[in-house]
Amino acid sequence: MSIGDSQVRLCHLYPDHLNIYADRGNIAVLARRLEWRGLTLEITEAGLGDPIADDCHFYYLGGGQDRDQMLVAEDLAHKADPLRHAAEDGAVVLGVCGGYQLLGHGYTAADGQRMHGIGLLDLETTAGSSRLIGDVVLDVTLNGQSRTVVGYENHAGRTYLGGGCTPLGHLRRGHGNNGDDGCEGAVAGRRVGTYLHGPLLPKNPWLADTLLGWALDHAECPVELEPLDDDLERSAHAVAATRAGRKR
Ligand code: GLN
Repeated sequence: MSIGDSQVRLCHLYPDHLNIYADRGNIAVLARRLEWRGLTLEITEAGLGDPIADDCHFYYLGGGQDRDQMLVAEDLAHKADPLRHAAEDGAVVLGVCGGYQLLGHGYTAADGQRMHGIGLLDLETTAGSSRLIGDVVLDVTLNGQSRTVVGYENHAGRTYLGGGCTPLGHLRRGHGNNGDDGCEGAVAGRRVGTYLHGPLLPKNPWLADTLLGWALDHAECPVELEPLDDDLERSAHAVAATRAGRKR
């Protein structure tokens, strides 16, 4: 396959309902970082009632308010089979905040309403009586590489992981999954969930490239992602880390 033919297919789930804090910016980052390497990202949007294909290389769910999340939860049950099939086949699945919660077994909101998740990640979420808000810094290890990841969180949910996944990272600053155990996010193979909005990927180019590397591998596209000039991204990362440090 020549580089010009190479293409990663991404399915953006619920862009109209799960896009709090401009979470769709993560997709712009994925697309640009591929373009800068002569590659392309083909994006399909799938909203309520839309069928989804099971042959995408990357599936993305952003965050949303509880009422939007409820609509999505009901619909997502109909998309669970193709999503599960794709994930088992090696596709990347990234969920942010509300999307992260729905990748787990379920979310019980503050009013007691239960939203079923699709169980792609072994975790359970229940709303607490306060919101966990602020800048976050965590240490993440993926593919044997360790980096600091920065972001912003704003959620009521308290998420606890089961034995089928591991935390995405360990907190230096912030509340993370539940404000209790020092962990943030979850990973199982190429399934990743996190509370970090902001969006997540512009300030964390290493994480963006790690996810893209997995998607390219799944697409059987043997391309090494050459380094980019990430000076601006590194500055944004440093500012976010410093700001988080000052807040405590
Ligand atoms: N409704 C969820 C919570 O508050 C998710 C919020 C979000 O996506 N920002 O926990």
